[in-house]
Amino acid sequence: MKSLKAEGHSLSDPRIQLDILNQHNERLKTTPKFEEKISEIGLYPLQPNEIEIFQINVGYMCNMTCKHCHVDAGPDRQEIMTKETLKQCLAALDDPRIKTVDLTGGAPEMNPHFRWFVEEVRRKGKKVIVRSNLTILTTNKFGDLPDFFAKHKVEVTCSLPFYSKRRTDQQRGEGTYDKSVSALKILNDLGYGTDPELQLNLVNNPVGAFLPGSQETLEEQFKKELHRSHGIHFNNLFTITNLPISRFLNFLLMSGNLEDYMDKLVQAFNPAAASGVMCRNTISVSWDGYLYDCDFNQMLEIKTHEKAGQHVSEFDLDKLNQRDIKTDQHCYGCTAGAGSSCGGATT
Ligand code: SF4
Ligand code: SF4
Repeated sequence: MKSLKAEGHSLSDPRIQLDILNQHNERLKTTPKFEEKISEIGLYPLQPNEIEIFQINVGYMCNMTCKHCHVDAGPDRQEIMTKETLKQCLAALDDPRIKTVDLTGGAPEMNPHFRWFVEEVRRKGKKVIVRSNLTILTTNKFGDLPDFFAKHKVEVTCSLPFYSKRRTDQQRGEGTYDKSVSALKILNDLGYGTDPELQLNLVNNPVGAFLPGSQETLEEQFKKELHRSHGIHFNNLFTITNLPISRFLNFLLMSGNLEDYMDKLVQAFNPAAASGVMCRNTISVSWDGYLYDCDFNQMLEIKTHEKAGQHVSEFDLDKLNQRDIKTDQHCYGCTAGAGSSCGGATT
């Protein structure tokens, strides 16, 4: 499967995506505006509490092409963060208020400077999280990475849509489940999931146009089933709502589910989830060094507020902490039900 970008698909243009969400038809045009919704609860304009997580998207290249990918990542994407930009990120990380560096992609491991960068960040005493798709850890080229992760006490947060083979392979491609299980066993053998210093988290995404189930209940089920079938241990399960952008937006349009899905998100709007959205404590940096309120705004090319600085070379945490966060209709995905963020439910 090709990325939307490689196909030359109209949805690879973020302006078209935003246009669809706002005014594709009468039903979407009359969907309450996210801004109005958060105004009603006194949260507009949305502002940060205090940024402490620095999320870097080190490139859109990936060994997989999952159906729901909000990054539109894949083997055909060439965007990769250069060492020069990574150095600019390191300079920004001198601010002691940033505690955690969260590395995402694509497959972040495919950035040629990945290992060097992790070592440098650890040297600064920051926590490092890597968002791994697991399958990459079973390839020859990247097979030694689990040892590297353990050596540097990198927290591994990995995608596993479901504990059954059928639903996992349906979303991420044939053979994904078996490879993911192999990678999880390798991580477990190194102490991941049992040693308190080696945190292993799984991420569950709904395989379809619905909201995730209860994070607590699913975590219990995942732990029971993965242990029963494969003897696997892990620490936490994070449930993440699929946001209606990029390849998931394409799926919603193709399956005729977009309007119903948006209605579901709007009806499930939860003020408590809205006050805990991740853009309030996280800043996102793109492969080319631009600053965004989150990885989703990055994909929609909605940069941080002009007054706060828009590139990592002009990183100023005080300004960023005082900025207004830019929101649009996709933000309903973060505020529905128990809420959704890179760390799972927000309530
Ligand atoms: S969802 Fe993750 S693993 Fe799948 S294509 Fe996107 S970045 Fe790659
Ligand atoms: S999509 Fe981004 S900007 Fe919108 S609420 Fe979620 S984290 Fe915040």
